[in-house]
Amino acid sequence: MSDKPKLAFFSFASCEGCQLQVLNCEDELVALLGAVDIVNFREAIDQKSDDYDIAFVEGSITRLEDQVALREIRERAKILVAFGACATIGGINAMKNFKPLAEVRRYVYGDKAEVFPTYATRPVHEVVEVDMKLHGCPISKSEFLKACTCLLAGKQFKVANYPVCVEGKLLGTGCLFDKGMRCLGVVTRAGCDPMCPSFGAGCIGCRGLVDNPNVEAAFDVLADAGLTVEEVLKDFRMFDGCAEQVKDQV
Ligand code: SF4
Ligand code: SF4
Repeated sequence: MSDKPKLAFFSFASCEGCQLQVLNCEDELVALLGAVDIVNFREAIDQKSDDYDIAFVEGSITRLEDQVALREIRERAKILVAFGACATIGGINAMKNFKPLAEVRRYVYGDKAEVFPTYATRPVHEVVEVDMKLHGCPISKSEFLKACTCLLAGKQFKVANYPVCVEGKLLGTGCLFDKGMRCLGVVTRAGCDPMCPSFGAGCIGCRGLVDNPNVEAAFDVLADAGLTVEEVLKDFRMFDGCAEQVKDQV
């Protein structure tokens, strides 16, 4: 029996794109598999086990049965990592929270809506204690690998707690507002080198808000760009619908 740490991957409401990012670590996967045993990962293996040390949880929680399953995972795992926007901030699944639930269920499931009970989307940390978060839609491969290195060394992986704009300034990415574009990088958590502005697209907030976002200032910046409060909120609701600062503005 191997004494390597056992990793297990689980998914709830998600597209499983974050698990695919793990598989996309092609060159580094061999080294990772030399250091750990993966005992649950339905994207890649048939094996399933209830015996694991580190649980990576993808997806947001939208059903009572998810909540029960997540609590069981929490009880079994020594360390629980929420990974991807769906798990860490609710992500795009939280858009449904701004519509009446019955209407959403009817839209998706039609006359079978009663057979598929769902409730308002919530991120993983609203149901169980989370030890580590990996942000983004999808997660960054390099952050995942760095986080694994920290976990195996018994160290805490520190996520960036400053805005995308700061990272952009350090890396020399120009400000998109100067080009007449809109961007949520003012209050969105950095760590993506800033992916979208580097390719000429505005940040749409997939890594969630920094811990203490100056949302009022962000609204002012966006309003200066000619956006109404409703348009600004619509932008934030794409990924950040579970954030208090966005919910409170409804
Ligand atoms: S965070 Fe994005 S890529 Fe990851 S599971 Fe959710 S929707 Fe898919
Ligand atoms: S720039 Fe914004 S939307 Fe794009 S990857 Fe980074 S955090 Fe996500």
